[in-house]
Amino acid sequence: MAVEACEVRTTCPYCGVGCGVVASVAADGSVTVRGDSEHPANLGRLCSKGSALAETLALDDRLLHPSIDGQRVDWDTALDAVAAGLRSTIEQFGPESVALYVSGQLLTEDYYVANKLMKGCIGTANIDTNSRVCMSSSVAGHKRAFGSDTVPGRYEDLEEADLLVLVGSNLAWCHPVLYQRVLAARKRRGGLPRLVVIDPRRTASCDQADTHLALAPGSDSALFNGLLNHLHRHDRIDLDFLDAHTEGYLAALKSAREVAPSIPEVARRCGLDEQQVAEFYAEFTRTEKVVTVYSQGVNQSSFGTDKVNAIINCHLASGRIGKPGCGPFSVTGQPNAMGGREVGGLANQLAAHMDFAPSDVERVQRFWGSPVIATRPGLKAVDLFRAVGEGRVRAIWIMGTNPVVSLPDADAVRAALKNCPLVVVSDAVADTDTLRCAHIRLPAATWGEKDGTVTNSERCISRQRAFLDLPGEARPDWWIISEVARRLGFAELFPYASPAEIFREHAALSGFENTAWSDGSGSRRDFDISALVGLAGAAYDALAPFHWPRPAIGSGAERFFAAGGFFTGDRRARLLAIGARAPAHAPDEDFPLVLNTGRVRDHWHTLTRTAKSARLSAHIPEPYAEIHPRDAARLGIREDALVRVFSRWGEVIVRAKPSREQQPGSVFVPMHWGAPYATRGRVDAVVNPVTDPFSGQPESKHTPVRVLPW
Ligand code: SF4
Repeated sequence: MAVEACEVRTTCPYCGVGCGVVASVAADGSVTVRGDSEHPANLGRLCSKGSALAETLALDDRLLHPSIDGQRVDWDTALDAVAAGLRSTIEQFGPESVALYVSGQLLTEDYYVANKLMKGCIGTANIDTNSRVCMSSSVAGHKRAFGSDTVPGRYEDLEEADLLVLVGSNLAWCHPVLYQRVLAARKRRGGLPRLVVIDPRRTASCDQADTHLALAPGSDSALFNGLLNHLHRHDRIDLDFLDAHTEGYLAALKSAREVAPSIPEVARRCGLDEQQVAEFYAEFTRTEKVVTVYSQGVNQSSFGTDKVNAIINCHLASGRIGKPGCGPFSVTGQPNAMGGREVGGLANQLAAHMDFAPSDVERVQRFWGSPVIATRPGLKAVDLFRAVGEGRVRAIWIMGTNPVVSLPDADAVRAALKNCPLVVVSDAVADTDTLRCAHIRLPAATWGEKDGTVTNSERCISRQRAFLDLPGEARPDWWIISEVARRLGFAELFPYASPAEIFREHAALSGFENTAWSDGSGSRRDFDISALVGLAGAAYDALAPFHWPRPAIGSGAERFFAAGGFFTGDRRARLLAIGARAPAHAPDEDFPLVLNTGRVRDHWHTLTRTAKSARLSAHIPEPYAEIHPRDAARLGIREDALVRVFSRWGEVIVRAKPSREQQPGSVFVPMHWGAPYATRGRVDAVVNPVTDPFSGQPESKHTPVRVLPW
């Protein structure tokens, strides 16, 4: 087929760094990629995954046609069946009996129409996303502290800091380009920022670190409670900032003193040397410019929200927020987790950074012209699939994600889907564990074929642009959702002919009745891109990356909270009293080791794209269990032998890798593998399904397990 050679600026579809990519299509159809030197996130850099994107475009494993119960059908038949199934389920069992489970891989425009269909037309908030598993504890922590889900800083702050603290974040593997930026800054600045890694594992991020605190799993909030106490004792509290802009300091300090009264007590709780703790506290205390970056090691916990707030407490109390080189900084796992949050694609959000306050519900309903609207939060991911298993949810539509591999207690998720009367799956690939449970399969467009926007971890909104034709009968998610909505009788509310039209409506909602505070200090909602409401087709196509709050294309250097201005009713931030908590399930005689799960450098999620690159697969070709050599010897486990890792919830069979990078008593197994690559390597079958009470995020970093030779 003749192809028009072209060069297209787009963004990487993997992690939350959100790098700009230039895709070049040659006349013979071949594609090459390079980093976009004009994109503010990466300034031309790409990591191993981004560099290999052109190797992942083959169509041999793609889902290219709709099907019902394994029989190929045309689009009209498939869409009619989806609409009829949803309608009859709603008529018989009510709107709460249907659900959508979506993905941080969706573009913002896809997310927007999915959210509008469920919350604004069907009238249930049973739409949740795999971002729940990634960073929902950060969302909950932000909202408790700031009154809004606001990331205060920018990537530049990591480079400008004098001390960078990584907590539960293997930035080197999981956000590689951001890590490269930090290393380049250290080279330029004579070793600054100094780097402290706080992680039970010795990860690749420790290779360049000045200090690694290998704390006991789950002890992070004790460490940061102790830090708050230490800052107070050494008169390094910013009393002016506290007085002017915050509430709750004394209660937070009281709790910190009870939980972490002294360095010896912190050291005992965290399994660290007293000297290590003292040195970290001293360094944080004497350094003005500190950024604390945290990720899944903090979030994926039954008290992840408390951990987030323990970190934020220290930054608020010492005034280390809103200034260059300062602040708490949540880095998201997925390319568009932030766009999903902006749209309201979590079950406990309504839309455009509005929740379920009656005034917000009324406002959004008026904006959408909704016949009916959700008035309360829906089911969060783990509870959602539990409801499927219990028959309370009887029709589920899963888009661009693979929960039979990626949710905890994954065997129960599979059993729930197998018994669910209607399972619809939209995906780009033909075979995943989740697709094997689907009645209706819908072929979705993927990276290179889709058009829309994404938001990265630093609030930068970028265009993701198509440079390939849609293969087979694949269609964009926004189109599929809109077609189903029309068949459900909502044609007037889904008139979209392009993602640009959806973006304009999204921008308009973000600013709809976003009134000023009574003192005139800005507007009541942080997320407001309504300046772009008039963005016409060509301008949307050409939209350059920009950082919200207010788009000033090409600049957008704003930080939040430099002079307070939080989004609580009184504009004051909240410090939270963080008590002593432990992971939900402690190891015991039957299950004496603690399982930790996570990513590897060159794979992404459940391998649907990265496994297509031989280069990426060569890095780590199969699932494994990293275990301390002493534990391995005690259990009679040899290097590269197959082992069973099992818990009260399930088991995997993987290859043993004795390694001193694990603490004694801990086991690490990566999260990526499932069908068709390693069907017995689904580690989430082993993971306990307990969740954080505020965020609903599962405790993927702490499951008691036993490991035995296979
Ligand atoms: Fe893609 Fe993340 Fe790598 Fe950037 S750092 S190229 S966004 S995977």
